[in-house]
Amino acid sequence: MSYNIKVTKIEKSKVDELDFNNIPLGKTFTDHMFICDYDNGKWTNPRIEPLHDIPTHPAAMALHYGQAIFEGMKATIDTEGTPMLFRPKKNAARLNFSADRMGMPHFPEDLFIEGLKQLVALDKNWIPPQEGSALYLRPFMYADEHFIGMRAATHYKFIIIASPSGPYFSKPIKLFAETKYIRAVEGGTGEAKAAGNYAAAIKPTEIAKAKGYDQVLWLDAHNFNYIQEAGTMNLFFKINREIITPSLDGAILSGITRMSVIDLLKDKCYKVTERPIAIDEIIEAYNNGTLEEAFGTGTAVSIAMIEEIRFKDITIHISDENPVGQMISDTLNGIRSGNLEDKHHWMVKIERELDVTL
Ligand SMILES: *Cc1c(COP(=O)(O)O)cnc(C)c1O
Repeated sequence: MSYNIKVTKIEKSKVDELDFNNIPLGKTFTDHMFICDYDNGKWTNPRIEPLHDIPTHPAAMALHYGQAIFEGMKATIDTEGTPMLFRPKKNAARLNFSADRMGMPHFPEDLFIEGLKQLVALDKNWIPPQEGSALYLRPFMYADEHFIGMRAATHYKFIIIASPSGPYFSKPIKLFAETKYIRAVEGGTGEAKAAGNYAAAIKPTEIAKAKGYDQVLWLDAHNFNYIQEAGTMNLFFKINREIITPSLDGAILSGITRMSVIDLLKDKCYKVTERPIAIDEIIEAYNNGTLEEAFGTGTAVSIAMIEEIRFKDITIHISDENPVGQMISDTLNGIRSGNLEDKHHWMVKIERELDVTL
């Protein structure tokens, strides 16, 4: 299906005001936004407009009942300056998976990708050129019907905003394994990229930060034993040459970086296993010297090396040598910047000129 996206351009771009060598994380937004309304059972009026506030009625249902979901992805430029998206179909499909769980309507996947392409084409001067930096894209959907009462909303907005992010020189991080609060349980909303999952995680994360940790490591809701994931990342452990990542158990968010890292590891002939992994197994591997590496994967961080995990009164130190994590990080960055061959055809180039309907 072809969509007519109405484009209203900003009069003067604000990109000149941005210092590309010093981009404040998550605080700068590009000139434009994509926006579309759900009304009378269908998505209508897809448009790109100068970034603006969205007026909110105090009874907007997302504010009361939390029907709000989002995606996170990145646009980069290749060596010729052509903008590219990383596996955008996966994000389109995951948004609809989340929408299903939250009783929200699907957003057409081709319009999701078309909206992204046109927005990125229009704001392509905002894509930071250095390897490791990117234009972070945030598609999201929320209930904006004005109604007090418990049912699925009938009006929604789907919006995409974009925020440049500088090269992420991540230092190794420390995780605090939470044994009081839980993030998710099978049957809940943990598999969906729902705003409410983050709401529930904020307080435990603040507590972990106050203790000197970067993120919470979430354990299973039944026994605080099996490892699920960290705040915004899926987790990988290298034990005795085998690379293990927790299998998707119905509570873990299925990361697109996670699935890509599994493919890259297999390309390099590593043994990768998806299976339940208990914190006890990590402690045992640490004690007998077979815990070789640990890293987290997610769009925002790409690959984050883990140097320490705290579980109750046990502190697990992990070597600051991360050859596998580093190799994967370099490979992902190389593919995203067009410096390495994209064997899996993950990158979607935005070649064509924008056909602007003014
Ligand atoms: C988004 C997210 C991730 C990472 O997913 P990617 O698709 O790799 O960015 C991991 N865990 C949670 C809870 C998330 O919300």
